[in-house]
Amino acid sequence: MAADTSGVDCEEMAERLIDLLEGELPAAEHQRAAEHIRRCPCCAAMKSSFQGVRDLVRRSMEEPLSETQRADLARAVLDALADEGARGSATPARG
Ligand SMILES: [Zn+2]
Repeated sequence: MAADTSGVDCEEMAERLIDLLEGELPAAEHQRAAEHIRRCPCCAAMKSSFQGVRDLVRRSMEEPLSETQRADLARAVLDALADEGARGSATPARG
């Protein structure tokens, strides 16, 4: 992936994305991560996938999931995983 001045790489972003979305990163880390996402289309896309998944999970805690929502959630998770694989991470495919 392209180097940038934020000092965060894409692999690191994948690990921090959840914390970033939950607001659990320290301010400095949060800023670096946000900076990286602004410059990196692949991490920006990953962030929206995660956000979609998170919103679905949030909603599912408030109300029972409909069949459609269940399918959406499954698809969102699979999409996020597929993006992850497509970025050439070292994680071997299972199954
Ligand atoms: Zn990135």
